[in-house]
Amino acid sequence: MAATVSDRLLDWYDRHARELPWRARPGEPAPDPYRVWLSEIMLQQTTVAAVKPYFEAFTARWPTIGQLADASEDEIMAAWAGLGYYSRARNLVKCARMVAKLRSFPTTEKGLRELPGLGAYTAAAVAAIAFEQRAVVVDANVERVVARLFAIETPLPAARSTIRTCADEVTPETRAGDFAQAMMDLGATVCTSRDPKCLLCPLVDTCQGLAQGNPARLPVKAAKKDRPVRRGEAYWIERDGAVRLVRRPSKGMLGGMRALPDDGWAARNDGSGHRPAAGVWTPCGTVRHGFTHFEIELSVLRLEMPLQPGGEGEWWPIAELDAAGLPTLFAKAARLAVA
Ligand code: SF4
Repeated sequence: MAATVSDRLLDWYDRHARELPWRARPGEPAPDPYRVWLSEIMLQQTTVAAVKPYFEAFTARWPTIGQLADASEDEIMAAWAGLGYYSRARNLVKCARMVAKLRSFPTTEKGLRELPGLGAYTAAAVAAIAFEQRAVVVDANVERVVARLFAIETPLPAARSTIRTCADEVTPETRAGDFAQAMMDLGATVCTSRDPKCLLCPLVDTCQGLAQGNPARLPVKAAKKDRPVRRGEAYWIERDGAVRLVRRPSKGMLGGMRALPDDGWAARNDGSGHRPAAGVWTPCGTVRHGFTHFEIELSVLRLEMPLQPGGEGEWWPIAELDAAGLPTLFAKAARLAVA
């Protein structure tokens, strides 16, 4: 089965590979490791469509990893704003500086694992795609394809080690990068989550999930727990066409990002309701935003302020708010306050 799967899949990939700005065409020399690494970090928990404009903006502004390493953390965090999961951006800075010091990326999966922000999946993907090293590359798309191909009934996440073993079994010794990307493409375009297009699939004859009749039910997922909801307040304080922004503490939720002042909801589960200034606050509404482990319901309150409040922060021109690099939660809150 293994040779059949890899041969058919590579043959399919030669004709149907997606064109993506960080990729080489099938069979072409591997792309710059910097571009592979950057795209893989950006794609963690994020869609291709959302990543494309960020990838293009980053590589236009910082065409090499050396130039990225020389940029300030502030510039990089601001350029990352809106892409979410901000710990990735902080690790991006650390990793770029480490690679610049080493003068090049390590070329093995093991060496890549030593870099900040590279877990098992990303190290395997970069090793395979940038360095043509045989590596077992399993992201969510590959997980779905393999669970169906081998009709794995164990629910996720317990099925992960079996899925990895099966993925290892079908991974060929050559064309490592093309094979990894072929699996990803098959999962993204043919073996899709709800509606697998089995008639178009190069693996149709070998797929055990299809042979059993209903591959879309695989992989089996453990029942989801509801995410808890936290509540808090964010404060829009305005004076002379400028809004008060603060820098969040470097450790913790949205660490190091510019934001509206808030009541400390991130540290306390629910906010204290402590407002940064006395005055007549006008409620502007509520924004809701999902993080990995909880949802936040943030009430936005507005105050026109004749005097500067004490404490940390800066006045930021409202007309240039797009350049502040607010994370999505606070960008939503800002939109509500100015509506
Ligand atoms: S035959 Fe269908 S279920 Fe099986 S791998 Fe192909 S698309 Fe997925």
